[in-house]
Amino acid sequence: MPDAPELIPVDTLVDGAVVVTMNEQREVFAPGGVALSGDRIVAVGPADAVRARVRPREVVDGARFVATPGLVNTHIHVTGEPLTRGYVPDDTPFEENVFVWLCPLYAAHGEEDERISAQLAAAEMLLSGTTAFLEAGTVRFVDAVVDGLCEIGIRGRVGRWVWDLPPEPEVYRQTTAEAIGHLEEELDRHGDQRARVAAWPMVVGHTTCSEELWRAAAGLAAEQGTGLNFHMSPAHLDPEGFLAAYGERPMVHLAKLGVLSDRATLAHGVHVDDEEIELLARHGTSVAHCPTTALKVAYGVTQIGKIPEMLERGVNVSLGTDGNNASNYSDLHRAAYLAAGLFKDARRDPTMIPAELAYEMATLHGARALCLQDEIGSLEPGKKADLVLHDRRRPEWVPLLNVANQLVYSADGRGVHSVWVDGRRVVDDYRLTTIDTGALYERAQTAGEAVVARSGLPDRRRWRPIGGR
Ligand SMILES: [Zn+2]
Repeated sequence: MPDAPELIPVDTLVDGAVVVTMNEQREVFAPGGVALSGDRIVAVGPADAVRARVRPREVVDGARFVATPGLVNTHIHVTGEPLTRGYVPDDTPFEENVFVWLCPLYAAHGEEDERISAQLAAAEMLLSGTTAFLEAGTVRFVDAVVDGLCEIGIRGRVGRWVWDLPPEPEVYRQTTAEAIGHLEEELDRHGDQRARVAAWPMVVGHTTCSEELWRAAAGLAAEQGTGLNFHMSPAHLDPEGFLAAYGERPMVHLAKLGVLSDRATLAHGVHVDDEEIELLARHGTSVAHCPTTALKVAYGVTQIGKIPEMLERGVNVSLGTDGNNASNYSDLHRAAYLAAGLFKDARRDPTMIPAELAYEMATLHGARALCLQDEIGSLEPGKKADLVLHDRRRPEWVPLLNVANQLVYSADGRGVHSVWVDGRRVVDDYRLTTIDTGALYERAQTAGEAVVARSGLPDRRRWRPIGGR
């Protein structure tokens, strides 16, 4: 008689959930099981098959849950904006938004403000089911931010505010040599890409970088095996600026400088032409689509955006929520909802960006944009144990008849009950396990009021509370 197969000891078995794997075949197991050991997923499959293979230390009854991979937010400013959320009036045009409002607000942050800000952003992401993010490259105090993020337990890639062309608020002024020095220094200190929170060479992008700085950032990424991140072409200003300076559009010029590669992720990419899409596809460059920013800052994504064409051409389009004065929330479910809906209306074509594709953008495409496609983005044995349980005992989850439609059109972060990152349960029963959120929210309110006061910017609230606050 053959021996009974040896049971694999595991830390946690989620048993009997609807398991949305996002694996190659997009298998959904209902009921399904997911087994976690250390920081890895050990087994995924039909519930009885997984149960028969493992000896768990802890069993989570999955009957109440839909299990998915953690979402990946590929463009978010974790400093500068979480503490000033919504202070910028919603009727400011793009240039005024960035240079009159955002730059002074960023500049008014001190080191402790940035630490609190990063924790607030991470708390909002984790509590709404995002387990990994790509920061926008606008941090000033990288050590404090990395420290705060490590404490809270999220996965992320961050970078310092780096640019060398005007306009420059005083605290961000830097020569080309200083800017390159900042990139090298953050990689020296936080460059280990095996760490949960690590640095990438990032530049602010747009028209704020010299050719020398672009080349240096791309060179460091290639040399050290990291990604590279920047902003490009949310509005008409970047194509106009590149055409005026170099006689060619941004992607054409960046391709020549060696910036476009399969390690590069650019945010926005709204104002691009067909030749630029072809270059993005050929170089394997990812585009972080931020639908809410486009809506609120009036980029024109529904009129001239070519997100469906990029996807059609094979460009890896992921999703981001951007800063909290453009998109005033950090719940990626809401961005996925917009990604699925906007172009259906814009093109008057309901076949545009189906729910399943929108969810791929929020998971698999995000993982690829972070250069972590072998580690995260799906629930598969060997990948990192980054797992989200959505609570089916909520009105928006009932009845459950089509899980892809439910995830994209019905659910959002409110139904996220539990979250694991690297096998550590960082959200349990709607609460963060790693930090005291009550204390964080109090510190964030106080710090936010102090930052806007220091910025010297006017209070433009149309509804001003009686009592002053
Ligand atoms: Zn941004």
